[in-house]
Amino acid sequence: MNTSEKKVALITGASRGIGKECALELAKAGYNIVITYAGNDDAANKTVSEIKALNVEAEAYKFDVSNSDECKENIGKILEKHGQIDALVNNAGITRDNLMLRMTDEAWNSVINTNLNSMFYMTQPIVKAMMKKRQGVIINMSSIVGVYGNAGQINYSAAKAGVIGFTKSLAKEVASRNIRVNAIAPGFIQTDMTKDLDTSKIVEAIPLKKLGDVSDIAKTVKFLVTDAPYITGQVICVDGGLVI
Ligand code: NAP
Repeated sequence: MNTSEKKVALITGASRGIGKECALELAKAGYNIVITYAGNDDAANKTVSEIKALNVEAEAYKFDVSNSDECKENIGKILEKHGQIDALVNNAGITRDNLMLRMTDEAWNSVINTNLNSMFYMTQPIVKAMMKKRQGVIINMSSIVGVYGNAGQINYSAAKAGVIGFTKSLAKEVASRNIRVNAIAPGFIQTDMTKDLDTSKIVEAIPLKKLGDVSDIAKTVKFLVTDAPYITGQVICVDGGLVI
């Protein structure tokens, strides 16, 4: 059991990118941190060291969020150890882009499983524990393409639009238990996921004329977790004004 007085935040896909920065931001806010990742041990270990340097507890769990059994098993271990999860950030995600006519079943299924089905696998056991405590905050990482679509990303935009429906419905189900559920829809944020994109035309289309930084998302996560007691069921676009 967690003997510390500190609250616990679990962030999926936090070995690098947006998830890592969210973990660091919540650590700065005083949360003990559990991160999850798929396979990048070096990055996960480095993230854990950086979090521990902020004087909170941190540990990493390696499992596939698109696998229901792995989620159940690992969440069981995490809850047994910590006794609670106060904040859950469902962040892990992948892209497998192609035009619809060229998209394989595998590319469709892996993106839906990793980006959408994972929300259900991760959230169901954790929300059960939150309901018992009558307290909790959940943030689900959507995307602006789940709001306005994108050619070449039917799998990803369908999953991210699904995340929005999931968020709004769950927010209505659990509000009476003092659990808030919100989604963030990032625009184009500089991470490994976007590093191969030709961004010159994209930047031109962004009203604020620049790509986003991981800190733009992490600060929004921190706000929703710690400073937004009357906000639930919302989708916050953090996109430099791209979806106006
Ligand atoms: P990223 O840099 O590619 O990092 C992805 C993270 O997810 C890594 O920690 C990775 O672990 C983990 N992961 C991937 N598949 C997983 C699986 N099956 N099981 C467990 N963990 C898995 O991605 P990012 O750019 O930070 O994106 C984070 C989230 O924001 C995603 O949901 C993405 O769709 C969303 N988003 C990003 C942007 C953007 O512009 N970057 C825009 C809109 C939305 P390993 O390190 O072990 O591989």
